Amino acid sequence: MNIMFKSTRGDKNHITASQAIVKGIADDGGLYVPESIPKIDFDLGEITHFDYRELAYRVLRLILTDYTENELRYCINSAYDEKFDTPLIAPLVKAGKANFLELFHGRTIAFKDMALSILPYLLKTAAKKNGVTEEIVILTATSGDTGKAALEGFADVEGTRIIVFYPEDGVSDVQKAQMVTQKGANTCVAAIKGNFDDAQTAVKKIFTDNEFKAELKSKGFVFSSANSINIGRLAPQIVYYFYAYAQLVDAGEIKMGDKVNFTVPTGNFGNILAGYYAKQMGLPVNKLICASNDNKVLFDFITTGDYDINREFIVTVSPSMDILISSNLERLLYHISGSEAKTKELMDALSNGGKYSFKINDEFAAEYATIEDTFDAINSLYTETGYVMDTHTAVAYSSYQKYLKTSQDNTPNIIVSTASPYKFAKDVLRAIDDKYDGINPFEALEVLYDVSETLIPEPIKDIDKREIIHKTVIDRAEIKDFVRGKLN
Ligand SMILES: *Cc1c(COP(=O)(O)O)cnc(C)c1O
Repeated sequence: MNIMFKSTRGDKNHITASQAIVKGIADDGGLYVPESIPKIDFDLGEITHFDYRELAYRVLRLILTDYTENELRYCINSAYDEKFDTPLIAPLVKAGKANFLELFHGRTIAFKDMALSILPYLLKTAAKKNGVTEEIVILTATSGDTGKAALEGFADVEGTRIIVFYPEDGVSDVQKAQMVTQKGANTCVAAIKGNFDDAQTAVKKIFTDNEFKAELKSKGFVFSSANSINIGRLAPQIVYYFYAYAQLVDAGEIKMGDKVNFTVPTGNFGNILAGYYAKQMGLPVNKLICASNDNKVLFDFITTGDYDINREFIVTVSPSMDILISSNLERLLYHISGSEAKTKELMDALSNGGKYSFKINDEFAAEYATIEDTFDAINSLYTETGYVMDTHTAVAYSSYQKYLKTSQDNTPNIIVSTASPYKFAKDVLRAIDDKYDGINPFEALEVLYDVSETLIPEPIKDIDKREIIHKTVIDRAEIKDFVRGKLN
């Protein structure tokens, strides 16, 4: 079946998957969703026989229907290869009673690699299919993980350039070191004086600056986005929900066909939304448990029906979840309401007053973990089992323990693990023992090696000793001139 994509807000233009991937966001400001969510056309029992690539092909071909088999297999094989430090790509690991789906075995040791390893190939193929001859310039504002994963994904990809802006003082030391040492002739990284919102707003302004876009088009460039509003980032994330399920069957923890829960540490709602799509496609899922940190807008929304960003923004130890506007929730609102008009009304209310009310169904549950809960979770699991979680995964672990207590729901559960503990080593060590409080962030890597008895991931080994390539610091008012200068 051929699946077309349309805007969540009612734009009448329906386009193919590859066109949606090039465009990123609809002209009316809505996000692209499939006209209908396809059902799997293979027997669920078969999934234990597929490796990651085969499963990716079986799932993606149902959604990205205008890609040929050759095109899709080329994208998949180019993405999920030795860049990952295990041939399993996304292994399911048991520690104590908990099952962790480890999504951090790619090049930037966070789950963003699962989609950003393949997006450049999907985009390049899409450009070719649709006769886009301009060079594609990826503009990205990042609070840490997306920027590095996008840089790694697009580095030296022919026909593309990537420019990343990060807040000068708003990312962790390891995250910053990862970005400023980035190699690749087509990569460019600049620090912005200001916070993440400043960087994001300045970049968004460029996407809607028609005069500037026309100027650059005449020079042979078009802009595109690598953030999670792009359907090309969402679709690849559906795959690992099926893959996790297959591994749980293989491990003898469940029988094929049994229902499972997934607990997902959530920020922009992209990861957990992919789980919802997997369920709609036919994966036996009972509950999707949305885990938040202290910025618990989603917990409040799911439990009360009121979404309200008029609150203090809290800087936590799980920075990739420090977010108040979860963009991908818009897609869920559309799917549940079935109405573009309703979705637009809610999104207008959000941009005007910062709040709206809407009751979602009981397919979702929600819990949250404070900073203290997060540290406690890391500490107790480490003490019991020796397994070390990162701070984001710990938010999910802690939230799941609360869910177990309040719900009495004993459905087997998978915790989606989104980052290597090495990426947040300083805070992880602090959770394990007070004596590590104030440790140097790079020294922390060596210490965590001793504590966790796992190897320091290759991508961040000696990262503080690498050559710093990107040193530019600019004012946010200079972003446009900076981009112009880079493309001349
Ligand atoms: C991005 C990120 C998240 C949040 O994922 P969303 O798809 O934005 O909900 C959680 N943990 C880590 C480590 C991340 O990088």
